[in-house]
Amino acid sequence: MWRATVFTLFPQMFPGPLGVSLSGEALARNVWALESKDIRDHGLGRHRAVDDTPAGGGPGMVIRADVLSASLDAGLVAEDARPRLLLSPRGAALTQSRVRALAAGDGAVLICGRFEGVDERVIEARGLEEVSIGDYVLSGGEIAAMVVLDACVRLLPGVMGKAASGVEESFEAGLLEYPHFTRPRAWEGREIPEVLLSGDHARIKAWREAEALRITRERRPDLLAKRPARGPSREA
Ligand code: SAH
Repeated sequence: MWRATVFTLFPQMFPGPLGVSLSGEALARNVWALESKDIRDHGLGRHRAVDDTPAGGGPGMVIRADVLSASLDAGLVAEDARPRLLLSPRGAALTQSRVRALAAGDGAVLICGRFEGVDERVIEARGLEEVSIGDYVLSGGEIAAMVVLDACVRLLPGVMGKAASGVEESFEAGLLEYPHFTRPRAWEGREIPEVLLSGDHARIKAWREAEALRITRERRPDLLAKRPARGPSREA
């Protein structure tokens, strides 16, 4: 079973949206497991303090290294080899290939920051890997952790209806996906492209590839530059 352990100051946020639909059904079927640990259980003093003012001054508060490490050390066994991801806007941007690698492993440990973030020393000392979900700032790591988990869980065996969906999607071939259509055939005077109704699978495939390429070129030319090397020519 793929196991996720989340360290957070707001365990009540979990499973939250992960408890419904695809990920929720997979959770109920024990395809994956989710455990949330309240960092505040290791808070200090009567008020269970977890944060303190930044050394050197400045706004906001910082999660203490001693508190977070106590929470991690109590919540994880030493042999636990799952990647320990600290959600952080400074981290490496999450990609579909990283998601695939995570989904192929035993699970993940996700550590959610709050306030200004966490004391730098605990990142080093506990080997936390910073991961970002994009170039913007959230108020906490919880929603980012849910993003990571949602992306991973849908790839676990038996979660998506069709094994094939997932392979043709945006990013999987280094391209954005082609457009989709469904009934009705005509809607507000707009028709489904004729080729998709032709039943000619080779033509449909070629049309979809051309559309994926066109849309990627228009919207994300950066992806074309980064595209994985093409396999043997399809004509071969
Ligand atoms: N002072 C920090 C921002 C802190 S935001 C800075 O300027 O970098 C508070 C917490 O939200 C962070 O500790 C992190 O856990 C989470 N967070 C914010 N934006 C994020 C993002 N883009 N990706 C992942 N986590 C994020």
